[in-house]
Amino acid sequence: MSAAPKKDPAVVEAEVHEKIHLEILKRTGAYHANDHVLLPSGQHTSEYIEKTLVTTEPSFTEGLGAVIAKHFAQWPVDMVLSTGSGALILSHCVARAHPSRPVVVYGMKGMSGGKRRVSLPAEFHRLLRPGTKVLVVEDLVSTGTTLNLLSDLVEQHGAHVVGVGCLWRRTSIELKDKNTPIFSLVSRDFPTFDPDECPLCRKGVALNDEFVRRRTHRRPSSVQEDRL
Ligand SMILES: [Zn+2]
Repeated sequence: MSAAPKKDPAVVEAEVHEKIHLEILKRTGAYHANDHVLLPSGQHTSEYIEKTLVTTEPSFTEGLGAVIAKHFAQWPVDMVLSTGSGALILSHCVARAHPSRPVVVYGMKGMSGGKRRVSLPAEFHRLLRPGTKVLVVEDLVSTGTTLNLLSDLVEQHGAHVVGVGCLWRRTSIELKDKNTPIFSLVSRDFPTFDPDECPLCRKGVALNDEFVRRRTHRRPSSVQEDRL
């Protein structure tokens, strides 16, 4: 009988690191596993990540930011570009730990003419010059749309994206520029199911609709805040 092929030590190490990072995200309360969650889309899943909780523990965020910075330490970086305000705390931590001492700026997401757009606050434009080396930082990458739009924006200024660092990415995403290195602390897809075909429903596991309820509750209060 032949022995099972040995796993590449680098792959084993990456798997161990990913487990540690997942455990850290679990401790922030952001990552829910072994659950039966109703998603806003109406689909069901066993795992869920609450984006807003990801960077609530400063020491964890600093540690995770340092891991991303270490990965890109070999490349000179002039600017860390946060994909939005949500990834700004992580972006700060990455920039703080990177040996090039880059500046930190953020993009703004919005819609115009029914399409998703990203832009930079005007004050940041002078920092994004031709030749500027940019490391883009995102918390969770699910579709890659924002990253692609931001890469286009950087290129329009004659600057260059040296890489993308993120906490979590769904493995199915593809960047438009396939040569851009992407590094994520966790690379994992949630399996999602139609309610009719959900194995957890079949097993009779109670459905957790907490996250969808929270979203619908938030809407009226944010309308109220806008009025104030
Ligand atoms: Zn279900």
